[in-house]
Amino acid sequence: MEDRNARIAYFSMELGLSKQMPTYCGGLGLLAGDLLYSAADLNLPIVGVTLLYKKGHFYQKINAGEQQELPVHWSHDDFLMRLPQKIAVTIEGRSVAVQAWGFTIKGNADVPVIFLDTDLPENSAEDRTITHTLYGGDERYRIMQEAVLGIGGVRMLNALGFESLSLYHMNEGHSALLALELLSRGGSGEVSEAAVEAVKKRCIFTTHTPAPSGHDKFEYTLVFNIIGEIVPKKMLMRLGGEDRLNMTLLALNLSHYVNGVAKKHGEVSGRMFPGYHIESITNGVNSKRWTSEAFKHLFDRRLPHWQDDPLQLRKAAHLPDEEVLAAHREAKSRLIDYANEKANAGFDYDFFTIGFARRFTGYKRPTLILNNIERLKGIANSLGPIQLVFAGKAHPKDAEGKALIRRVYEVIKSSDDRLRICYLENYDMETAMLMTSGVDLWLNNPKPPQEASGTSGMKAAHNGVPSLSTLDGWWIEGCIEGVTGWAIEGSTGSACSSSVPGSESERRDKEGRSDKNDPDMEEAESIYLKLEKMIMPTFYNNNAAWVKIMKSCISINASFFNSQRMVKQYVVNAYNTCLGR
Ligand SMILES: *Cc1c(COP(=O)(O)O)cnc(C)c1O
Repeated sequence: MEDRNARIAYFSMELGLSKQMPTYCGGLGLLAGDLLYSAADLNLPIVGVTLLYKKGHFYQKINAGEQQELPVHWSHDDFLMRLPQKIAVTIEGRSVAVQAWGFTIKGNADVPVIFLDTDLPENSAEDRTITHTLYGGDERYRIMQEAVLGIGGVRMLNALGFESLSLYHMNEGHSALLALELLSRGGSGEVSEAAVEAVKKRCIFTTHTPAPSGHDKFEYTLVFNIIGEIVPKKMLMRLGGEDRLNMTLLALNLSHYVNGVAKKHGEVSGRMFPGYHIESITNGVNSKRWTSEAFKHLFDRRLPHWQDDPLQLRKAAHLPDEEVLAAHREAKSRLIDYANEKANAGFDYDFFTIGFARRFTGYKRPTLILNNIERLKGIANSLGPIQLVFAGKAHPKDAEGKALIRRVYEVIKSSDDRLRICYLENYDMETAMLMTSGVDLWLNNPKPPQEASGTSGMKAAHNGVPSLSTLDGWWIEGCIEGVTGWAIEGSTGSACSSSVPGSESERRDKEGRSDKNDPDMEEAESIYLKLEKMIMPTFYNNNAAWVKIMKSCISINASFFNSQRMVKQYVVNAYNTCLGR
């Protein structure tokens, strides 16, 4: 912890910094990691705050289609350094000790990151487990974690000597208790409106999902049992909602700048929370972290300084075709070797390969492309062989998600020589890198408007891999039909679908749906049509056109959908207003 001059504190419940540290679950944590790495490169005075999950999220094993969840064992002390300072957070009336572990992100400047830990000998056996598992346990466990993150995080930064902090950025509502801690600092008892305004000036909030289940809501009795009256009850209910404590509402009411993570998501969030002004800053991925070795070498040779300045990728349109193809061949052979070794996939280097990897859950519709397996086999028979790679975890409590994994395993049994399918277990940063760079086409088919942004397609773009995706999240901005990829069309696939998830209008939409007008069927058919009419004929018969598409993905999309551009937008739109620059 050398640099204590940080002026921005960035709080995130999960944080993906390296493949060896399982302190993330998925997109949210990796985005946080990408942001901090880019902040280091841009010399931003920022410090990251998260929890130390000694048992990670979970390690996924799949046994004949059944997902098993195993705790992750890792040696955190190989990567993190224990800091001497200790602070306490009152939980259910007990004083729970919290210590921090430090990590330093090396960029053009160092960015310190602290991992909060309650697994200390002076705590009770139960309190020692508070920080053990990411997204594990029940609501009580979650509130205790959020108290350690938000309240403990602010206290720890103070104890560590971060004195010039002027800005607190909440990456999702999980850390919103930090704003209550700031509010209560003025002293005990009454909280004035002026104090609320002062806290607002210091807080920024990024909301990350339109899915109602992604917004924590807790019963007030439970909340007060656990954290006590950190601010007076009446005040908390005014800030966090009348019936339950809504962490999103709390963050909205205590931030002066709020944003969604793609243009469309900003609009959808605005409709979910009428009366709040919600901007948008579209996500990006870290170009250095998500470009495969093969493309790194190519860019190093042909687009000097792209690592420091991803805008250089704009010039990718002029890369020599054969060098782009060779880089992709190398990345693809790595994936195929991996799939053959780990999943006995029997894949061929030359066959058209489609990737689908994301959390397995209903709205992401992982099995959409398998809707009509005979149709897909027909396409493979007439146009050329197809290889499908799946990966992704289902949340331990998501029965539907687990059933979707079983469904893929069922279909694998009926795959044949021209339609080969495999599943890679335990989707993580490493498999994500292999897959997003090694396939020929990246598939994404969430049910709009539930995908806030999505980032894996941006990783694919960095490696010259086009997307076939529903028009939702970032793809509304990134899709130029036939140039950077293709849109999956259908009645829910339209960009102007306006129902808010979980709302009355969405429920009516669902109930009004009849089989003959099933949007899933329509969109699956759109996938087949695009494969049949455009994508596969180009891939198998028109190499020049295909490599042009690959280069457009890099020049048009990678040059924009990267976290350096994203961080610059946070600086210009959110941080600068407060840092007084
Ligand atoms: C990039 C990534 C994600 C997020 O991908 P989305 O497209 O946003 O769903 C999730 N998990 C891993 C391991 C990733 O690398």
